Amino acid sequence: MTDRKTIYLCLAHMSEDGQEQKYVQEAFDTNWVVPLGPNVNAFEQSLEQFVGQGKHVVALNSGTSAVHLALLGCGVSAGDEVCVQSFTFCASSHPITYLGAKPIFIGSEKDSWNMDPQLLEKAILDRKAKTGRYPKAIEVVSLYGMPYNVDRILAIAHKYNIPLIEDAAEGMGSCWKGRALGTFGRFGVLSFNGNKMITTSGGGALICSDAATKDKIMWYATQARDAYPYYQHTAIGYNYRLSNVSAGIGRGQMTVLDAHIAHHRHVQQLYQELLSNVPGVHIHSAPSPEYESNYWLCTAILDPDVKVQGQENAYKEIVTTAVGGAAGVIHAVDSASTDCQPNDNIEALRLYMLSKKIEARPLWKPMHKQPVYHDAPSYTNGVEEELFKVGFCLPAGPCVSDDDVSYIVQSIKEAIQSN
Ligand SMILES: *Cc1c(COP(=O)(O)O)cnc(C)c1O
Repeated sequence: MTDRKTIYLCLAHMSEDGQEQKYVQEAFDTNWVVPLGPNVNAFEQSLEQFVGQGKHVVALNSGTSAVHLALLGCGVSAGDEVCVQSFTFCASSHPITYLGAKPIFIGSEKDSWNMDPQLLEKAILDRKAKTGRYPKAIEVVSLYGMPYNVDRILAIAHKYNIPLIEDAAEGMGSCWKGRALGTFGRFGVLSFNGNKMITTSGGGALICSDAATKDKIMWYATQARDAYPYYQHTAIGYNYRLSNVSAGIGRGQMTVLDAHIAHHRHVQQLYQELLSNVPGVHIHSAPSPEYESNYWLCTAILDPDVKVQGQENAYKEIVTTAVGGAAGVIHAVDSASTDCQPNDNIEALRLYMLSKKIEARPLWKPMHKQPVYHDAPSYTNGVEEELFKVGFCLPAGPCVSDDDVSYIVQSIKEAIQSN
């Protein structure tokens, strides 16, 4: 098995019949090699069809841009507070700080791993008591594709009349009671980064509730140009529109989106079957049928008392690459561990899997435990901190075959056996 290729968490996967290249070629043939054009318009239309509910979609150059413009669209500005899920990737919260606003981190509930409605309400009331104002927006995340409890989060947003932003970057194709995530709040965020459900190489989209909002978001995404024959600006805009070349890839990817989602779900099912009788390993799955996850990544927890091969050496050496292989960008560190990190057996499992050419990763480190956010208020019961210590992600997606899943499960069994 030495010639095995590395099995990555989630790799981009193009259509078999080269649809992406066809549309990209069209962009070249018609000389639309710019951040607007026929591919962008058609991609937006097909996204609108996919999410339904009469929503309007703006294609952007990243999911992070989409979060940024959603906040702007909710009127968030310097000094405001925004309640955001702590258990997430940094792209959910960083744009809050781009605007000079303050993230208020909300903890997770045990069953969905997403924002805990009770903690959200507690935070809203406490912020009002402390600052005299309600938070300006609520931003909830569908972690690894799992929906949050839409009914309960929406009810709180309505009760206090605070706009809801759904960061569905990982939840494209996930539904709550049959309706697509990203269509419940004032705005919904999608990402087409290389590792997401579909890719445009890099890109994102903002789901808007009406045509006027879409226009306004497009205006902000194109440097906020007013209608004059020269450049006239009444607001600060951004250069966030998706390129017509990237949108060509996106149009091609829309032809395989349903197949991708079905495959992620199939892989999840296989893991559940094959890992069901492995003591100490628990796959995270939908708490009830309302939560229709796309299962972007398979996630699991490992009991703290499970011994993993090589565990005694965990965190002994400083890692010299950044997680996610961020294009070779490394910010060197001077210690091998931090005061909040996955258990030794999780780190040992990661290394064991790596030695078998399998990429396994820790869960997202909660944002309220990130040094950069040490000043930010947080409202949590510690659920996400505990999950971060015991959880890990396994490869999923269109490039992961049934045989790969068997091999991955076999490797997990080897890692925790022989104790
Ligand atoms: C991927 C992701 C985003 C957006 O990221 P981009 O790489 O900028 O497209 C936002 N939020 C979450 C939770 C994500 O996983």
